Amino acid sequence: MKDVFENEMKLEFISRSNNEAFARVAVAAFAAQLDPTIEELADIKTAVSEAVTNCIIHGYENKQGIVKIVGHLKEDEIILEISDMGKGIENIDIAKEPLYTTKPNLERSGMGFTIMESFMDTMEIESIVGLGTKVTMSKKIKPKLEKEQEFQMITKD
Ligand code: ATP
Ligand code: MG
Repeated sequence: MKDVFENEMKLEFISRSNNEAFARVAVAAFAAQLDPTIEELADIKTAVSEAVTNCIIHGYENKQGIVKIVGHLKEDEIILEISDMGKGIENIDIAKEPLYTTKPNLERSGMGFTIMESFMDTMEIESIVGLGTKVTMSKKIKPKLEKEQEFQMITKD
């Protein structure tokens, strides 16, 4: 029988902006088990960075709270849930629109969700005003053999 690779982790930290870098690196170390390319890893780090920053800046509005990350690895896919118990989002469809931001004065460009959507394969937002927000994202990591075959195809003359 085929030995299916699966793994899971949970991470909780307080909503300080210094912890954004910590979260990004911790998730990258976890994702590294799937043997991603530098590009795949960079995409995951960027998406995590956007989601965690949102929890800190919008969810908790710089007050102290807990940011939670649950990560799953499933054979060739990483699934991440990033959540806060902060103020929540009133209208998710509007919040997802490119360039929409409720904090234009803080150098926010309103591109966080758009970046998460384009760098990951899937992205879903669940939110309840007054209770918090959870973003679930997933990305397939191509198995090494497939990458090697692709590389051979490209470099073959
Ligand atoms: P940027 O990410 O480009 O710096 P931004 O954070 O405003 O700007 P998005 O990340 O796309 O842009 O988020 C859009 C809007 O959704 C935010 O301005 C905010 O109103 C709301 N939002 C996002 N995440 C949360 C959250 N965790 N809790 C509450 N509101 C949120
Ligand atoms: Mg953002």
